[in-house]
Amino acid sequence: MSAKLIDGQRVAELIRAEVREDVEAWVEDGHRPPFLKVVQVGSDPGSTSYIGAKTRACAEVGIGSETLRLPDTISADELVRAIRRLNADDGVDGILVQLPLPSHLSSHHVIESIDYRKDVDGFHPMNVGRLALDQPTFRSCTPAGIFELFRHYSIPVKSRHAVVVGASNIVGSPMAIMLSRENSTGKATTTICHKFTKDLTRHTIDADILVVAAGQPNLIKAEMVKEGVVVIDVGINRVADETRERGYRITGDCDFESVREKASWITPVPGGVGPMTVAMLMKNTLLAAKKSIYPAEIST
Ligand code: NAD
Repeated sequence: MSAKLIDGQRVAELIRAEVREDVEAWVEDGHRPPFLKVVQVGSDPGSTSYIGAKTRACAEVGIGSETLRLPDTISADELVRAIRRLNADDGVDGILVQLPLPSHLSSHHVIESIDYRKDVDGFHPMNVGRLALDQPTFRSCTPAGIFELFRHYSIPVKSRHAVVVGASNIVGSPMAIMLSRENSTGKATTTICHKFTKDLTRHTIDADILVVAAGQPNLIKAEMVKEGVVVIDVGINRVADETRERGYRITGDCDFESVREKASWITPVPGGVGPMTVAMLMKNTLLAAKKSIYPAEIST
């Protein structure tokens, strides 16, 4: 078997087109366009490039955006004060603090200072808690994007065995929550693996759906999966490649060529999950502008 490709680039284009139409309708109804404020601390080139992709997507769908650039020497108090100003600004619908932060800043503390009603990344404890309780929430963008891929390609999740490799707060854990919840879209029997898991293959070999978000190139090889598995490779890794002008190439966490021979569906890297993450950020920003998740009457 050679797996069918899950084309995240294409599905993300469709979602952005949908968001663009919804933004146009929202503006025609007399509202100002949604507005996203990105906060960048320091000038890490990787972060700058991710922010570029996000702000370009905003421009494409009609969402206003601006990046607040702060020095990497900023104190936690100053950063929190800057975020509080954005919380209080009625012209800002969504706030995104680009991670990772410099090591002297606690991402937990900084994320908690964002008004959860503007937390379009879905990382605030209020939104993660509501996700765990199956309540309407800003779902974190990468897992939400993966669910859009399942929906687009009619890949069933319910009652299947889903294995998530990676348990971070931004990908693995919310993915596992969404897969496992009984009352929402998931309904899968879910196993979570991480760096302390003994004998990873014992778990991955049994997966009907395998989501890998470990940040380890070639972690998953053909002998670790069963025939017909659906493979979602979230990893984005730079590996040295002297045949490329820039000296590296981007790969996922799976040995793509061998795994695709056994899988029924697989996401390529790049062009799989990555574009979906940005598209879902657009969706969340529109939801924030419309106050769809937290209507005024339940706001604090
Ligand atoms: P992280 O470093 O915060 O977490 C990695 C997780 O993988 C941890 O839970 C760790 O225990 C687990 N892990 C590491 N080595 C392992 C091993 N050998 N066996 C089993 N588990 C192992 O990383 P993250 O922020 O969750 O990101 C994971 C990957 O996904 C990275 O490559 C990142 O660049 C990528 N990513 C992609 C997108 C996207 O939109 N495509 C979004 C976010 C992150």
